[in-house]
Amino acid sequence: MNINLSDRLKKLPPYLFVEIDRAKKEARQGGRDIIDLGVGDPDQPTPRFIIDALHRATLNPETHRYALDRGLPQLRIEIARWYKSRFNVDLDPDREILPLIGSKEGISHIPLAFINQGDIGLVPDPCYPPYNSSIIFAGGQPCKMPLLEKNSFLPNLHHMKPHILNKAKMLFLNYPNNPTAAVCDKSFFKDVVKFAERHNIIVCHDAAYSELSFDGLKVLSFLETDGAKGVGVEFHSFSKIFNMTGWRLGFVSGNPKVIEALTKVKSNIDSGVFNAIQASGVEAIKRVDRVSKSIKGLYQRRRNVFVDGLNKIGWKVTKPRATFYVWAPVLGRYTSASLAKELLDKADVVVTPGNGFGSSGEGYVRMALTVGERRLREAVDRIRKVI
Ligand SMILES: *Cc1c(COP(=O)(O)O)cnc(C)c1O
Repeated sequence: MNINLSDRLKKLPPYLFVEIDRAKKEARQGGRDIIDLGVGDPDQPTPRFIIDALHRATLNPETHRYALDRGLPQLRIEIARWYKSRFNVDLDPDREILPLIGSKEGISHIPLAFINQGDIGLVPDPCYPPYNSSIIFAGGQPCKMPLLEKNSFLPNLHHMKPHILNKAKMLFLNYPNNPTAAVCDKSFFKDVVKFAERHNIIVCHDAAYSELSFDGLKVLSFLETDGAKGVGVEFHSFSKIFNMTGWRLGFVSGNPKVIEALTKVKSNIDSGVFNAIQASGVEAIKRVDRVSKSIKGLYQRRRNVFVDGLNKIGWKVTKPRATFYVWAPVLGRYTSASLAKELLDKADVVVTPGNGFGSSGEGYVRMALTVGERRLREAVDRIRKVI
């Protein structure tokens, strides 16, 4: 029998990390001591009080049954409370907040609610890969918005062609940004709201790193902007801030009609997040201030060690103001891929080639601060010998 892949699967962009993944595995199997700055997955364990909350919750048989489509009411209430205190944004816990099986799940499903065959979804380039694939899976066409250093890694909303704007239904944005580590200001979000209103485009802002900023910077929510709730939603994740990537818990907040449509899609696909994990999320978000303070401190110290170290050896890299990524321009003769290969082959250091996030990422590599300070110093030392 012939196993034929669907057109939508064939349409996915090639997975550009294949080569580096293979080489990394080979190096590890060969017994080499690899420093892996490639993956955006925190190295620290989930805080103990969250693990204890999960344990307590699982002992209650009520948690063992199917979750409600709209998620645990207590979690939605606690999220609304946090939004009010953190961003001064009022949200209705019943209609404007929806728990997700990690934010990636919601991001991947939301185009199914709004994209028809041939519609356009506007996505940043470089970007977190699911924005692209989710538009393709829904039958749409991603249209790339280059994020360039000379524009502070913000898309240029004023230079889009009318035939694109006519077909555009959705816009993905992500600040603080993965992979560029850029942040945006209030005026950009104001422009986004105007743009979305004028062209009738649903905004999906991914705020996975909103609680991971440095030097006292207070990151904005898109929903703080006047009119934002009228045009879009914001995705949040428990993964990065609470070291809970494996638990799968996130949420989306904002426009009630958009959230209702996503709820309908999801009720046909999944059956929600394990109730005990949602109950752990309640305890986590109650203590987000305390946790984020210590986690910001951890990554800020690592950032300083690593970026100061790179600058000292002559690799000019700017200090990120948020996220745990360093977005570094490649040196002289290299491309993203050839530098990543050189660093792996000669320094046993894994970095992610920027073009894997989209063609505008060419000329950069992304390095994640997800290893300890001692290893980061060691990485700088090894890189010095290569460059
Ligand atoms: C890590 C990451 C996510 C994934 O979050 P989950 O809640 O674990 O699915 C979403 N967006 C961006 C930009 C990320 O880097």
